Amino acid sequence: MLSDLPGLGPKRLKLLERLGVENLADLLLLEPRRYEDRTRVLTAAQAAAAGEGLIEATVVAHDFFPARNEQVLKIVLSDGSAPVALVCFGRPFLARTFPVGSELRVYGTFQYRHGEIQSSSFEAERATTPHRAILLPVYPLTEGLTQTVVRRAIAAALEDPQLPEKLAAFLGTLPPGLEREKDLLPLVDSVLALHQPTTRQQLERGRYRLIFQEFFTFQLDLTRRSLARRRGVRRERPAPQRSFAGEIRGALPFDLTPDQQQVLQEIVADLDQPWPMARLLQGDVGSGKTLVALLAAAHAAERRQQVALLVPTELLAHQHYRNLSALARPAGMAVAILTGRLRSAERRQTVEAIARGEVDLVVGTHALFSQDVPWRQLGMVIVDEQHRFGVTQRQQLLNHGAAPDLLMMSATPIPRSLALTAFGDSEISTIHTVPPGRQPVKTHLARIGNDERVYAFVRQQLDCGHQAYLVYPAIDAGGARDLRSAEAMLPELQQRLAPHTVGLAHSRRDEEERTSTMRRFEAGEIAALVATSVVEVGVDVPNATVMVVEHAELFGLAALHQLRGRVGRGSAQSWCILVYQEPLTVEGTERLKVLYNSTDGFIIAEEDLRIRGPGDLAGQQQSGYLQFRLADIRRDMEIMLHARDAVRAVLENQNHREER
Ligand code: ADP
Ligand code: MG
Repeated sequence: MLSDLPGLGPKRLKLLERLGVENLADLLLLEPRRYEDRTRVLTAAQAAAAGEGLIEATVVAHDFFPARNEQVLKIVLSDGSAPVALVCFGRPFLARTFPVGSELRVYGTFQYRHGEIQSSSFEAERATTPHRAILLPVYPLTEGLTQTVVRRAIAAALEDPQLPEKLAAFLGTLPPGLEREKDLLPLVDSVLALHQPTTRQQLERGRYRLIFQEFFTFQLDLTRRSLARRRGVRRERPAPQRSFAGEIRGALPFDLTPDQQQVLQEIVADLDQPWPMARLLQGDVGSGKTLVALLAAAHAAERRQQVALLVPTELLAHQHYRNLSALARPAGMAVAILTGRLRSAERRQTVEAIARGEVDLVVGTHALFSQDVPWRQLGMVIVDEQHRFGVTQRQQLLNHGAAPDLLMMSATPIPRSLALTAFGDSEISTIHTVPPGRQPVKTHLARIGNDERVYAFVRQQLDCGHQAYLVYPAIDAGGARDLRSAEAMLPELQQRLAPHTVGLAHSRRDEEERTSTMRRFEAGEIAALVATSVVEVGVDVPNATVMVVEHAELFGLAALHQLRGRVGRGSAQSWCILVYQEPLTVEGTERLKVLYNSTDGFIIAEEDLRIRGPGDLAGQQQSGYLQFRLADIRRDMEIMLHARDAVRAVLENQNHREER
């Protein structure tokens, strides 16, 4: 119990809670922010050069100097190399503690000031005992807590004779033999090394062990779950009775790219397994995932399985519905749409058709699952833009029907580190290349105020018969004077781009109006679309060649990459113009640089992870999933890989033994 430790009363326990320390395990794994190197005694000059350090010196004088309303004590020391002054604000009593002639050991920050080496932030003790060479941990604190309190509590916890048992109970153990095989520091020694290291090397070994164990436990759990999934639900896979996929493919005006064929094969192979599929399909924006989804759905439908295609926005639902039914209907495959905004009569009809099994593929938003849709035979769930959904939402889906196959699609490629964690129990299929005949989008940066040329350029593209998007961070500025918004810019753009037609799309517009605007934009009747990030996902108009994002500094990296992906879908050269307002933050500058320098979604996703951190990237729901105590999936990727290999080896060994 935490409250058994010395110095931890109810008040301090509350303060510790703020640091995330709620129990003994949390405390024992409280990671020091840094360590004070007290392994070496420095000369005064060395300490001043390093800015901080440990020195040993003799008190040679006490001085006082006036400052504000006190006489400040200055203890003058000498270690033979140079004089050092300890400036003791508010601590005149130190003159008695450290009389002239006494030998001191001082750890502090040292600076040259007024021609001497000074320290006003230091800890001193009489050097009567031999020096203990340690790296002294400096813990994260919160107001009201001191290093001394935390250090004492941890030191006491480490002295508990039952420490080994307790640690094993908190953290679990590694399989016997693994410690020796990997030359890992034992668990107790590792925790000791974290809090009381005597060398950097020992500290690193301790940290390695603890991080390895965290990853190992995590990966083992994931792998076991995925094995259980395979062994748990067995289902009969009916043979195909119809032939949708072949017909749809035959009617396409183009061939599937080799990558599309490959991933489709992987998916179809899953459909012959007795366990449900769990597959992540990743591929950059515009790489043609929707078609793969349709063909996957067609294969499922051939076996009389119903398929749900879940999309994050109403707009995207309509767009997919239109595009997919145009391809599917001629082959005889029935597609329906189900969103929250359907009129009740329409919805009832659709729901009834689903119940009778007359619908093969249903495109919808999460409304699809928030109420009971009486599926006749839900066999597959496809989640488009999966990063827009949380883990729990995904789970909800899977609770419908008898363990349907799950295909998650992501246009924000999953960095490897996340792929191994958040999606560690899924198979991963990747589309690496975009369909042929496209030219990479050119990216330009422009400053707000220097945008005359931007609009002139847009105009010129429209004159050539192409189309453009102009995206704003807000629907209206809501009083923010310096913010350009979609509503506010519309009249100005209509004027500047006349006689070309300019349309407006954002989430506050009436559903019907927005749908009709999108349709007219797709049909080429609207030349330029002024919008918010509603057009970030899914919108597919190959004739659009310019994407202007104003206030680009206010968008996230992933969003900007998605927006840029709206152009470059046809054979003509396309441009993305990021218009930013100064001054830029450091992060803002970094984001724009990343986009300017790369069009590769994989690189951008890695950079995004680096700049933002994993919690953010994975969406709130997933972040809890990825919270490790000491481990950091970005920094400790290597250890993660070691742990994963170890998990595999251990499980394989077990299997061998079971087989024999
Ligand atoms: P994603 O969802 O992966 O961002 P989409 O599925 O929207 O990409 O596809 C982008 C565009 O590429 C669409 O216009 C689609 O019709 C087209 N497309 C898909 N596959 C091919 C292909 N094999 N050859 C040519 N164009 C394709
Ligand atoms: Mg898509």
